[in-house]
Amino acid sequence: MKLMIMGPPGAGKGTQAERLVKELDITHISTGDMFRAAIKEGTEMGKKAKEYMDKGQLVPDEVVVGMVKDRLSQPDCEKGFLLDGFPRTVAQADALSKTLDEMGIKLDGVINIEVPRERLMARLTGRRVCKQCGASYHVIFNAPKQEGVCDSCGGELYQRSDDNEETVSNRLDVYEAQTQPLIDYYSERGVLLNINGDQDIDLVLKEVLGALKK
Ligand code: ADP
Ligand code: AMP
Repeated sequence: MKLMIMGPPGAGKGTQAERLVKELDITHISTGDMFRAAIKEGTEMGKKAKEYMDKGQLVPDEVVVGMVKDRLSQPDCEKGFLLDGFPRTVAQADALSKTLDEMGIKLDGVINIEVPRERLMARLTGRRVCKQCGASYHVIFNAPKQEGVCDSCGGELYQRSDDNEETVSNRLDVYEAQTQPLIDYYSERGVLLNINGDQDIDLVLKEVLGALKK
């Protein structure tokens, strides 16, 4: 299956993506994770991306589009993929559509996780991420068995530097201005699957899997 998952920061995209790629045996492509890996490696692209990420702004379209295009051409995407955090602007969506057309691929569905804005600040400021495998936890809503330690790989959990109140507030504004228009974009193309993300993690997953079967 060729899928995309969207929704505001903190909607639970990464949390669901982690589970969906296992269930469907497809490749997870998270542009946020790719930028964080580039920052860790100290590449030029990582340095450039960090300036935007620290402010809660979007990395310029041309940087992201080139990176995703390369990623989609890798062999592990042939079995199917789940794009997470891309596209985030109409220009990115147009570029994706062109790339997929060139590859002869059609998106099977766009999962749109809906969560009211007032829930997102608490989700993001309480988020903890595994340094090793990238799994996402929450200090209250999805706490690991042992504080600070990843349940699945034993890695150390950390708090993302952009998960502070000021940056989160910018990221939510940027989402509403630049990414929300993609809901209409994909709805008009008949591929949008709206999912209630304001319920238990397992119930969100169940709703997504049910929607994909239809
Ligand atoms: P996104 O990738 O959309 O930014 P994440 O999947 O990282 O969001 O989730 C953001 C935070 O919210 C994490 O701390 C995660 O554990 C928590 N979370 C995810 N889904 C739910 C849910 N259904 N209910 C409560 N908290 C959730
Ligand atoms: P995420 O991990 O999806 O929350 O993304 C973290 C940050 O990475 C965002 O706030 C942006 O600065 C940057 N980013 C990730 N994906 C994109 C994208 N598709 N377009 C532009 N910037 C992105």
